Amino acid sequence: MMMIDGSPIAVAMEVEESPAAAVEPRDPPRIQRLEESVVNRIAAGEVIQRPVSAVKELVENSLDADSSSISVVVKDGGLKLIQVSDDGHGIRREDLPILCERHTTSKLTKYEDLFSLSSMGFRGEALASMTYVAHVTVTTITKGQIHGYRVSYRDGVMENEPKACAAVKGTQIMVENLFYNMIARRKTLQNSADDYGKIVDLLSRMAIHHNNVSFSCRKHGAVKADVHSVVSSSRLDSIRSVYGVSVAKNLIKVEVSSCDTSGCTFDMEGFISNSNYVAKKTILVLFINDRLVECSALKRAIEIVYAATLPKASKPFVYMSINLPREHVDINIHPTKKEVSLLNQEIVIEMIQSEVELKLRNANDTRTFQEQKVEYIQTTLTPSRKDPQVSPLPSGQKTPKVPVNKMVRTDSSDPAGRLHAFLQPKPDNLPEKISTLSAVRSSIRQRRNPKETADLSSVQELIAGVDSCCHPGLLETVRNCTYVGMADDVFALVQYETHLYLANVVNLSKELMYQQTLRRFAHFNAIQLSDPAPLSELILLALKEEDLDPEIDGKDHMKERIAEMNTELLKEKTELLEEYFSVYIDSDGNLSRLPVILDQYTPDMDRVPEFLLCLGNDVEWEDEKTCFQGVSAAIGNFYAMHPPLLPNPAGDGIRFYTKRSESSQEKQDLGGNVEMELALDQELFSDAENAWAQREWSIQHVLFPSMRLFLKPPASMASNGTFVKVASLEKLYKIFERC
Ligand code: ADP
Ligand code: MG
Repeated sequence: MMMIDGSPIAVAMEVEESPAAAVEPRDPPRIQRLEESVVNRIAAGEVIQRPVSAVKELVENSLDADSSSISVVVKDGGLKLIQVSDDGHGIRREDLPILCERHTTSKLTKYEDLFSLSSMGFRGEALASMTYVAHVTVTTITKGQIHGYRVSYRDGVMENEPKACAAVKGTQIMVENLFYNMIARRKTLQNSADDYGKIVDLLSRMAIHHNNVSFSCRKHGAVKADVHSVVSSSRLDSIRSVYGVSVAKNLIKVEVSSCDTSGCTFDMEGFISNSNYVAKKTILVLFINDRLVECSALKRAIEIVYAATLPKASKPFVYMSINLPREHVDINIHPTKKEVSLLNQEIVIEMIQSEVELKLRNANDTRTFQEQKVEYIQTTLTPSRKDPQVSPLPSGQKTPKVPVNKMVRTDSSDPAGRLHAFLQPKPDNLPEKISTLSAVRSSIRQRRNPKETADLSSVQELIAGVDSCCHPGLLETVRNCTYVGMADDVFALVQYETHLYLANVVNLSKELMYQQTLRRFAHFNAIQLSDPAPLSELILLALKEEDLDPEIDGKDHMKERIAEMNTELLKEKTELLEEYFSVYIDSDGNLSRLPVILDQYTPDMDRVPEFLLCLGNDVEWEDEKTCFQGVSAAIGNFYAMHPPLLPNPAGDGIRFYTKRSESSQEKQDLGGNVEMELALDQELFSDAENAWAQREWSIQHVLFPSMRLFLKPPASMASNGTFVKVASLEKLYKIFERC
């Protein structure tokens, strides 16, 4: 074995041989039966994890007791008091002694009953658990009795014989001093934000699903209830009364029903928010067979559709009620029955995802139509000046329709029926007539029939091209990789499984922006420029930068002419650029708006001149498909996360900034103003620092997360150096092991 002086290898050897390592194995410890009270308290801590879990159990019991009104009072976030009162069937006097023992229930007698059960509870554990971690008092009266009974419980047993008392219909359960005997739990709960918000959230969710029951929830001593719902026959009404008008008015109804011979039978109905709804957090109110549950896979599936379909960065509000044959749901996988597992979960989720997407797209189309500015719309795309004979673009031939559920999974082939409206073959005798607003509108309306949305063949073809070039292995990597950090100006270090890769962020972001431009086609949000920038000057700037030759006579003049011509050309294309790409050039030839390609990301404005030049020079405007591809590629290149134009001040680039101060030193010798020169450098330096920090932030927080969702990496990336495997951790570990 290798031995290097003072190396860790030598140290490791020493430790191995030290006497401390050779301790005699101690005798095995004795196995003992835990005291029942200990077992029960441990189990109780699992079922009742926090105040809100106690509320959930109690409210579910009230629902199981056929109540039509349930009210909840909470003190100190539930730690001091939780009181749930209902008007249900009550509890028999003779059942009270065993009411709070573990595994006592009126809902289940044999295991098979689990599969035909319609109640929320069945384990007979909730009340018992509460008595192990709190003081529980029950007051109840059954039908036909003149008085009720009150009794308190501790550790599963009655503390006293039930006392006769006056009572109103139903049951009231009081849970006091929750976790009084679990110091650590109580402390962490006291320190964390109070559970009251969670309790309000829970009851809000319950209230919109069980709209045949009225719910209320308030803090102890408060006059006003924080949740207050009345019995209503319409789901939308109950959503309005609980979540408010602003939510209810922005909802779209969704429904799916599947009765499949292969056994995937379910139906779903619900409401989803439209594109006018704005929120930072997703609210998914999900009931499966009337049970309030969570399903992270479904939540994610829906979020993906929203991110891909709506340009705005809003998270959805979704209420969904799914019903499946009881035997298809395993409710018994979680002690609090919070997560459930479904038969055919994947298929169910996929079908729901498609429905959500379809509804969203249709609604989104209508909305865009309402908001768009139509002053500039012409009936056709104007043929390019370069080739005046070119006929109007071919009208979109129908591509075979893609089934909706196959159309989009993590990406969006954007609704594109819009263009179709403008690509009507124009009768030859009609010159370039500007249509009246209403004519255009009605034509759009007709065309914006849901079935037509996937018909814009050119964009569809481009997207299909992206999909077909996608490299499955890279896709896997991109979806699941973790960003480690920037290795240099261009390469990021990423980990996927046990492999480390260098990933070229410029290539990746360029491709991602290109793909997103196609997917958001005609559906962009806009970035408004604070100072509209004159096209001709910008293009001239780009031309000057492009050409490093010393100026020759007349060359400047030529550049000006080129800039002018390009400006003219782009001015002719304003309708197209604005309508489909949200690149807005006003009538004075100023660029004033750019599209949002990825939310939370604005491109490097230093690259605007290059972008405009590229639009003017490189785009083929005659053919619809090539034109869209060209513009999208230009946008992709512009928005890509290039290294900032200022050299990186963190590395060798620092010289760039210090050199300038040296030159200012020279100026001082000549009697120049040093202070101003130095200040300028510092400004430049901090500008550079900001630009680089901003870029790195965007790479980590915008590029990588978006790539995971949207990027379809083309096969070429596997071989063109975009992804380079640098190490395999297994091998590294082997090397370390040897040390
Ligand atoms: P489970 O709900 O799993 O049966 P619990 O411990 O939650 O177990 O409740 C035990 C039993 O107490 C229930 O089966 C039910 O018969 C009765 N019970 C609890 N709460 C109420 C209530 N609010 N109204 C009527 N009966 C109730
Ligand atoms: Mg229960």
